[in-house]
Amino acid sequence: MSDSFTSLPVLPGNDWPDFQPGWVWLAGAGPGDPGLLTLHALNALRQADVVVYDALVQDAILAWAPQAEHIYAGKRGGKPSAKQRDISLHLVELARAGKRVLRLKGGDPFVFGRGGEEGQTLVQHGIPIRIIPGISAGIGGLAYAGIPVTHRDVNQSVTFVTGHDQTGDTPSSLNWQAIADGAQVLVIYMGMKHVDRIAKALLDAGRDPDEPAAVVTSATTPDQHVLETTLGTMAVDIANAGLKPPSILCIGRSVLMRQTLDWQAIAQGLEPRNVDPLGRGRPAEAS
Ligand code: SAH
Repeated sequence: MSDSFTSLPVLPGNDWPDFQPGWVWLAGAGPGDPGLLTLHALNALRQADVVVYDALVQDAILAWAPQAEHIYAGKRGGKPSAKQRDISLHLVELARAGKRVLRLKGGDPFVFGRGGEEGQTLVQHGIPIRIIPGISAGIGGLAYAGIPVTHRDVNQSVTFVTGHDQTGDTPSSLNWQAIADGAQVLVIYMGMKHVDRIAKALLDAGRDPDEPAAVVTSATTPDQHVLETTLGTMAVDIANAGLKPPSILCIGRSVLMRQTLDWQAIAQGLEPRNVDPLGRGRPAEAS
């Protein structure tokens, strides 16, 4: 065992699966903070021969696989972007070469992450796979901003939406009227490029311009930034603040709970802004 290997984070005792040569494990790395990685993902990092990773996977996480070759397969950051077909077939090739292949994706591999497509290609080529879920940015990222994705007084459902489709356009398959009518809280991934169109579609469909909204940028990383706004002003506020992806948009009254639950601000010594932002008029424990 090399020194670099023994310096890796230790896994607690458990019957951890063996990473067999020729397998591909499709794993989520969580939204950013390395502490949000699952233990299965850590087990995979410790055994992998190759890690094929996406743009939003932090270096600190890759550092937990010093023995492995690291291959970038992301689609941003000024590096040349890899085509989905090429990535999938590259995974097949690596597995056929007898490698233990860890395909590491931001958040959860099956949430707007094309994990399903890659898994399908692998299965179609007879490559054995394992899926390791991760904490998705639309849940964990909001939690780091102090926004509960569900809150009993606000919503009994959540609608996850992608802000663009394969062509890069606002998804034409989405029925914005139905979303506006039915979605109690909306969590929008990849929404920055078309935020003006998304907000307009929701407003045209009758959503209240004063509805609370939040934009969480680089959630769970040291660069995390949270903008509180409203549906009616979010596009302008995002432009004025010069906010960039990766960002999660959340539209709904659960955003108000941040006035109480902004735990990072409280940890820095700030008082909670409002301990009853929904105006229930009674303690939270009194249901
Ligand atoms: N599979 C990922 C989502 C991939 S799509 C997941 O489950 O989280 C990429 C989009 O995810 C980004 O455009 C952004 O909307 C969101 N995202 C991922 N990481 C993020 C982060 N740390 N902060 C804010 N948004 C993030």
